[in-house]
Formats: sequence, C-alpha cells, structure tokens
Amino acid sequence: MDFLQKILNTDISPFLINFYENITIEMMVKFFIIYFFIIWIATFIWVIRDIWNRTTSVLLQIFCILIILLGTPLGIFLYLFVRPGKTLFEKYYDEIEDNLDTFSWIVEEKTSKLWTKKQCPSCELPVSHDFQFCPHCTTKLVENCIKCDKILSTNWVNCPYCWTKQEEKKDIEKESNKSEKNKKTAK
Ligand SMILES: [Zn+2]
Ligand SMILES: [Zn+2]
Repeated sequence: MDFLQKILNTDISPFLINFYENITIEMMVKFFIIYFFIIWIATFIWVIRDIWNRTTSVLLQIFCILIILLGTPLGIFLYLFVRPGKTLFEKYYDEIEDNLDTFSWIVEEKTSKLWTKKQCPSCELPVSHDFQFCPHCTTKLVENCIKCDKILSTNWVNCPYCWTKQEEKKDIEKESNKSEKNKKTAK
C-alpha cells in the first residue's frame, strides 16, 4: 500500500514542465521531417492504388508513380492533372450503358419483326417482311395505298399511315371498269 500511496502523492507537474522545456528547434525539425515522410508514403500508396484503378497502361502507371517519387507529396497536384479523368469502373459502366441502348434497340427490332412475321396470303408459307412478291408462288405481296401511295401488305384492310380503307381500291377499279365498259357500250 505504501507503493500506491507514493504514486498517488507524486506531483507530475515538474515532468510536464521539463517536457516543454526540452522541446528544441531540432526536435521540431525532426518531427516535421517524419511528418513529411509519412505524408509522402501515404500519398505514394494512394497514387499506386488510384492509378491502378484508372489505367491498364503500365507506362502511365510507372510515370504517375515517378511523379510522386520525384515530386514529393507536392507531385500530387501534377498527378491529379495527368491522371485519366475516369476510373476503369466508370468507363466500364459507361460502356455498358451505351451498349444497353443498342441492345434494347436490337431486342425491339427483333420482337417487332416477330410480331409482324409475314405469311404469303396465297400459299401461307413464311415470307420476309420486305419481299414484294412471294418467292414460292409469285403472288404479289405489296401494293401502294390508294391515297398516300405508301407500300402496304395486300392483306391489310386499312392503310396504317392515312387510315384509308384499301377495299375501296377494288371498288374504284370495278367502277372504272364499269365506266370504261359504259363508255365502250356508249360508243
Ligand atoms: Zn406464296
Ligand atoms: Zn395511306
């Protein structure tokens, strides 16, 4: 118990005073040199990790590491200027985003073609969407809209562009035939 009592009774203030008295300029310089080296090593490690994430080019990686090695921690400003703007992950993500647009466009294109898969109205064999004639039975597969002249499938009732009923064409043809016949009989 004597020992404990001694410790409790000791006044530590003289030690503190001594400590402050012992701080010399030499100590402060040493402290700042050590501090500087710690910052340098930390910057160096950070740059190695950062450049690894930003480029696969070994030359650029070595160059950036040299910037910090030779430029001390202040080289970080040059490094931030030289390094690629985007990390490899960001680049990869951007690429995926771009490809997604193309991919969804392809899917849309494919599904729309599936939905409008065409059959020859005469022989019922599959024909391509842009065929003008059936390659199997030579039936004409398209005709022009009687109003807007766009190319339509022969089995469409209405024109999808101007919504004109295409059966009228046959009626018009019949009428014109009739009128021609009438003319002929009139003559
Ligand atoms: Zn056919
Ligand atoms: Zn039309």
